[in-house]
Amino acid sequence: MYQEVHTENIAVRAHAPEVAELLRRFRLSAQGEFGVSYEAFRDEVMPEFGADLMVLAPTEDGDYVHLHYGREIIRLVGGSRIGERVSTMTPQVARFTIACCDHALADGMPRYTVHRALKTVRVSLWERLIMPATARDGSRLLIVFSRPLQFREELLTTVLDTSPAGIVALRVVRDDEGTIERTVIITANRRAATIAGREGEDLVDTDAQVSLPFLADAAVWRRCLYAIELRRPDMIETAFAANGQTIWLQISVALLGDGLVLTITDISDLILANQALQSRAATLALEIGRERATRRALSQEIGQREEREQELRRLAETDPLTALLNRRSFTEKANAEIGAARDNGSAIALIMVDLDHFKAVNDSYGHPAGDAVIRAFADLLLGVVRSERDLVGRFGGEEFAILLPGANLDCAMRIALRIQNLLAGRRLPVSETLSLQVSASLGIATCDHPLTFSGLVERADRALYRAKNEGRGCIRIADPDLSVAA
Ligand code: GH3
Ligand code: MG
Ligand code: MG
Repeated sequence: MYQEVHTENIAVRAHAPEVAELLRRFRLSAQGEFGVSYEAFRDEVMPEFGADLMVLAPTEDGDYVHLHYGREIIRLVGGSRIGERVSTMTPQVARFTIACCDHALADGMPRYTVHRALKTVRVSLWERLIMPATARDGSRLLIVFSRPLQFREELLTTVLDTSPAGIVALRVVRDDEGTIERTVIITANRRAATIAGREGEDLVDTDAQVSLPFLADAAVWRRCLYAIELRRPDMIETAFAANGQTIWLQISVALLGDGLVLTITDISDLILANQALQSRAATLALEIGRERATRRALSQEIGQREEREQELRRLAETDPLTALLNRRSFTEKANAEIGAARDNGSAIALIMVDLDHFKAVNDSYGHPAGDAVIRAFADLLLGVVRSERDLVGRFGGEEFAILLPGANLDCAMRIALRIQNLLAGRRLPVSETLSLQVSASLGIATCDHPLTFSGLVERADRALYRAKNEGRGCIRIADPDLSVAA
């Protein structure tokens, strides 16, 4: 509870001029150690100030009782308290009053106090001058001047005048059946008039729907009527046009008697800021969308480029006629496999194959037929190898190489024999009407020390050369000098 107590500069602090006058007379009346004589002082001030005075007498149990209660105080409080104890007042006010009176009696000094009214409806703050006095019989009493320092109406008026929100109180006018005919403004602050576009005008006593343009909106008006009839507060957001501008309002609808209090806030700036934010968010979303699309296109482009590069790499590695590895990529991959075999000490074998008398095929059937034979033979070779790691390459012309990682001589020999058997058992297709029987010479080389690709090729080539020399259509193995009949 708001409260002030002063013993100094009372005349300066007090609002009612009577306080200074009473204080002056109190000081004049003070005599010797008994201070102010109650009877004499009472007789002096009662006729003039009695309407605003209370007399309090202390009780034996630490309370005070009202011996006098001025007319004006009765009017403001709404009743007399004569004979009532202070402790029956609101506890906070009672405690404060008793403490101030105790102090005044203890030191014989008057006290000026201000406290907030808790129960009194009309009064906001009270000011008091508490003056201690001694009666003829030696009892102590307090003469207290008590007057409102501030009324609630003043507070309300200030709130209304300074509120940044428009505040309008409406009262309903009903016909004999109780149907609402119209609503009349009973209070409106300056801000409400400004928002309504009626700056400086007094809206009181005018028809609310006529004076307040936002109530002309049927939807808003309907909600106000619902609020009145259903006794239910509401919160409305609405817009109306004024001077070519859209004004956005938030209207809090509260009930007051058979009417309403509208608290109106102009939220146009807020709405504009919100719209700007929303449009910025939309632009951002658009930009993000565009960026995503660009990124998608870019990643597609990268994917396509990677595919193209892969295709180019594949083409660069592949012999165009047979789709086998060309000599360069075969050499590259074979080198890697041989490096691994060297490191692991695992077996590896190379078979070199050359078609016999191929020149004669070209000469007899033409170059395209020769090409077809080469292609068919390449397919045959691919069908012979099994392991993923086995490499089949075209070394040039009608000469092929097969690298078999992990294969020992037996294994390589099995494959070489299979090639020979297949060639012996089938004719290679050249066209729909032509197929040719061809033979091939094969040279095999297996692990060697030091193991190198060129070393393997050289030895396999030598074995192949021997196969050619020793009748063609046969298999020869590099040192040890073994031969196998086809
Ligand atoms: P040999 O049994 O001694 O190997 O006799 P050969 O005729 O197969 O050997 P030679 O090396 O004398 O001839 C190879 C022939 O292969 C010469 C060439 O016309 C032919 N040739 C090389 N590359 C191709 C090709 O891509 N297509 C065709 N149709 N023929 C090719
Ligand atoms: Mg040949
Ligand atoms: Mg050849």
